[in-house]
Amino acid sequence: MVDRLVNSEANARRIAMVESCFGSSGQPLAEQGRVLVGEGVLTKMCRKKPKARQFFLFNDILVYGNIVINKKKYNKQHVIPLEEVKLESLKDEGQYRNGWLIRTASKSFAVYAATSTEKEEWMAHIEKCIEDLLRKSGKQPPSEHAAVWVPDNEASICMHCKKTQFTVLNRRHHCRKCGSVVCGPCSSKRYILRGQSDKPLRVCLQCFDELNRERARPPTQPTPANITPVKMDTAGSGGDSSGDEDSDDDDDRVTAEEKHDEPKFYGDSDKTEETNNHSSKDSAK
Ligand SMILES: [Zn+2]
Ligand SMILES: [Zn+2]
Repeated sequence: MVDRLVNSEANARRIAMVESCFGSSGQPLAEQGRVLVGEGVLTKMCRKKPKARQFFLFNDILVYGNIVINKKKYNKQHVIPLEEVKLESLKDEGQYRNGWLIRTASKSFAVYAATSTEKEEWMAHIEKCIEDLLRKSGKQPPSEHAAVWVPDNEASICMHCKKTQFTVLNRRHHCRKCGSVVCGPCSSKRYILRGQSDKPLRVCLQCFDELNRERARPPTQPTPANITPVKMDTAGSGGDSSGDEDSDDDDDRVTAEEKHDEPKFYGDSDKTEETNNHSSKDSAK
């Protein structure tokens, strides 16, 4: 009983600490029943390149932000409800190792842990939280997820026409449906992708055709509810490439220390003790 009290006090203290590190740039995180499950630095694949981000796993939300001062100050807080999250393990590829996708209806991205053990730990803890949440709420996980954006430097030419070379003037754009890097003319169309935004979003010509074909299917095959077509809007579609920027992407003031800090997961030891106690009792019978 005392243990539990200490634990809940420790939990409240940890959450207050996270809040204070984000300061006024973050939202209040303390909530009845909310537990900080773990925290650590993961490398998040951003539009331009991979960047270190501080992640906090709560039992109901995943929070991450930019590291201004390691362990002291974070900003650009993002809060993702875990109920909407689906994880997908990634195979190691060159320098990209120990990664997985974090997918939601509105945003999907890849993160990388320092070691395979840390990847397993993170994924197991996140999956466990999602499972518990869905079991409690009886909800179904979402079936549609936002595309994972292909990083800029992986495409030197347009992935649709395979002709346009990207330069300072020929800027890269991202299709919001498939995540491809495409040129302006190949992404001149817009479509409302429900789950991502109520506004029409940039899509590549291939996705535009596919979305229209889906819409044109006979009524016996229901149109996916999250997709609504919009009339083509070519006027003024050229100059909005700044809107392509991932909002947490533009800040390079990352001062994460060189040496690697292992992630911390709280409450593991309690659980292990409990489990051990039970199993020792069981085996004693
Ligand atoms: Zn093109
Ligand atoms: Zn596309």
